[in-house]
This record gives sequence, C-alpha cells and structure tokens, in this order.
Amino acid sequence: MFGLRRPKPRAPARQLQVSPAKGGAPIAVTLRRNHRARRLVLTVDPGGGAAALVIPPYVSIGEAQAFLDSRAEWLERRMKSLPPRVVFADGAVIPFLGATLRLSHAPDARGTAWREADALRVAGDPRHLPRRATDWLKRFARDEFARLAAEKASALGKPAPRVSIRDPKRQWGSCARDGTLRLSWRLVLAPSEVADYVIAHEVAHLAEMNHGREFWAAVARLTPHMSQARLWLRRHGRALLRYG
Ligand SMILES: [Zn+2]
Repeated sequence: MFGLRRPKPRAPARQLQVSPAKGGAPIAVTLRRNHRARRLVLTVDPGGGAAALVIPPYVSIGEAQAFLDSRAEWLERRMKSLPPRVVFADGAVIPFLGATLRLSHAPDARGTAWREADALRVAGDPRHLPRRATDWLKRFARDEFARLAAEKASALGKPAPRVSIRDPKRQWGSCARDGTLRLSWRLVLAPSEVADYVIAHEVAHLAEMNHGREFWAAVARLTPHMSQARLWLRRHGRALLRYG
C-alpha cells in the first residue's frame, strides 16, 4: 500500500476476526502456531497496530476463536489506545529533536533528500518519499548519535564505540558485549534530551554491564537529563513507533 513499508514475503498466515462488543468493524487477528508455546498469547504490534495470536499446537481454531471472543473488549481498548499513525507523505509535519520537520516533496529536483530550514525536501517519485525520508533520518541519527557517543565515551576514558542504527520495537538502545551501541533511529523524533539520556545510558554500560549503583552514577555524570528523559519515554515513547 502507498506510504507503508512493503511486508517481507512470508507464508500466508491464517486470520480470525473478532467483533467488538459494541458493534463496529471486526478486528483481524493473525494466527501463529508455535510448537513451543504453552498458552495463548494475544499481542498488538505497537508500530503497525496489527493484532496477532500465538497458539500452542494442541489448541484448535475453535478454541482460539473462543479465546479471542472473550478478549474482544480488551483488544478493542488496546487498539483504540494506540497513538495516532503518522504516515510519511508530502506535507506531513514530524517531530524532530524538539522542533519539527515538514516533509516536502520536490518532484523535479535531483538527489534524494536534504534539509532546508524546517523542511525535509525529498526528490523523485512520490512512492519513494517514505523510504527516502526514513533513510535521511537514519543517516542523521547515525552521525549525530555517533558523535554524542564518542563524546560521552571519552568522558569515561573509553574509545569511541561503534554505533549501529536500528529500528527495535521494545528498547531504544542496547550495548552489546563487544561494545557496539545499538540505537533506535526514532530517537531523532524525540526531544534532544531523550537521545542524550539513552546514549549516556548505553555508554555507561561500556564501564558497567549492569544496572547497579555505580552504573546510575555514571549515567548521571554523562547527562543532566536522566529523570526527565525516562519520564518522557514512559509517557510518549510508544508514539515514536507510529511514524513512517
Ligand atoms: Zn541498561
């Protein structure tokens, strides 16, 4: 579909429908049989908003349907509580390090994407706009976060770490055993204090591979925004997954 990422090809999955208690459009739920599953697990993807049900091998389709019907109200509430989806398209305004960027299609221009004041200009076929805008944001994140990580690592007397930009669903950053920092590109959509904290957190793991007292003391030395940023992520983090 236009403006959405193309899904990876995969065996067609079976879907069940759940009708909301108070009427309204039925909700499609993708079934995933898992031979290791011990119970039925219903989830809603915080990014795409798709519902999925994992079922153990011994559970029948009828039993899965009955389980879903019993959870209809929960599922409906869960879907409604998702932050609004913001598709990357011409004219969309997206948050960017505490300010905003307006996505602006430049059909006749050469190149891919570039920043012009508070606009992100994107050249070429409009079908490529979402990907090109995302690529620009990822590149920006890589450069900016690598710079910040190097600065903070040097404050701990450590060499600049390798920074890898990802799109994880459940964590904003992580620090691998080999010292590589993995960071979500979506942090560029949050106020700059938030990325500053997440990077400080992961850099502090270069010195302390735990969440003990020494670790938090190191984080506090590397950023003045710790408590404010943690609160922001708890309150608004989910919304970052709804862009693009
Ligand atoms: Zn940690």
